[in-house]
Amino acid sequence: MLHYSCDLCKRPIDSHSESRHVVKIEVFPAVEEVSPNECCDADCSAEDSDHLGEMQDLLQRLDDGDDISFVDDGTRSLRFDLCEACRQRFVKNPLGSKSSKQLDFSNN
Ligand SMILES: [Zn+2]
Repeated sequence: MLHYSCDLCKRPIDSHSESRHVVKIEVFPAVEEVSPNECCDADCSAEDSDHLGEMQDLLQRLDDGDDISFVDDGTRSLRFDLCEACRQRFVKNPLGSKSSKQLDFSNN
C-alpha cells in the first residue's frame, strides 16, 4: 500500500480515512508574449523557420544528455502532499504571509 505523509506537518496521511491533497507549484520567469495577431504578416515566416532551427538545435543538445542543466532560468516545479488540516491552512495563506495569519485571528 502506498504511504503518504503530509509535507507540511509530516504527519502520515491515511488515505482511507482522510483525503490527501496535492499542491503543485510552478515557478518560472514571466515572459511578455507577443500577441498572435501581430505575428501574422508575411515577413514573420522567415522568423518562424529560424525558431524551428533553434528548436531542433535545442532538441539535439538535449539528446546529448550531458547538457540538460544549461537552462537554469529559475524554473522550478514543486509538488507537495498535504493532509486536510494543512490543505485548509494552505489555501487560506498559500505564500505563508504573516498579515493573513493575523487576519485569521481577528476572524475568530
Ligand atoms: Zn499536514
